Amino acid sequence: MKIARFRVGGADFDGVVDGDEAVASGFRKPLGEVTLLAPCRPSKIVCVGRNYADHASEMGNEPPKEPLLFFKPPSAVINPGDAIVYPRQSARVDFEGELGVVIGRRCRGTSRESALDYVLGYTIINDVTARDLQKSDGQWARAKGFDTFAPIGPWIVSELDWRDVRLTTRLNGAVRQDASTASMIFDIPVLIEYISAAFTLEPGDVIATGTPSGVGPMQIGDTVAVEIEGLGTLTNRVVAAS
Ligand code: ZN
Repeated sequence: MKIARFRVGGADFDGVVDGDEAVASGFRKPLGEVTLLAPCRPSKIVCVGRNYADHASEMGNEPPKEPLLFFKPPSAVINPGDAIVYPRQSARVDFEGELGVVIGRRCRGTSRESALDYVLGYTIINDVTARDLQKSDGQWARAKGFDTFAPIGPWIVSELDWRDVRLTTRLNGAVRQDASTASMIFDIPVLIEYISAAFTLEPGDVIATGTPSGVGPMQIGDTVAVEIEGLGTLTNRVVAAS
């Protein structure tokens, strides 16, 4: 099942995508006649840094011994197709294509064996990062947290064999990241166990599971598309701050 949110005539709906139609209580419309919204409204986005060894090494880091966590604020979320705004404070803004896990039920202190019982489904998130500020700030809140730095979508797929799906990020059509989720260091049940031992996860919260190698800068005017096998494609363009 594809769980989605969409906007029609100024009103927002929770619904599903059935074939090429958007379905909510009271209507069924061709997808082309609705605007897809980010498919969930997270109270928090928990991100995992350096969860692919090849990305850790491209950034000059050792693979972590435990999951490395940070947050993106919910105010950073944008919809599929919305613009990523290039902040004036940064001269280097990178894409990071990632598999997102969406929580379905409140979850605290769960074991890895039970972890998947709390998952609503899977989506795509672009962990947009002001790379220069990530280094110069000394911690990551601002670099990862600017408004528009969390595109999510295009929907949530409830069933996905996340253990081995292909993730491809294209910048203006050119492939920049191309990897399998099989090369994650910490898999999804382990992440949920680790994260839920610290924070209560609420329905709609998103775990961004880390990015593979190939991250790189975007320029104003670029289009970035993150595709995950079985999930679809999340596309956004980059615009100047107004
Ligand atoms: Zn990331």
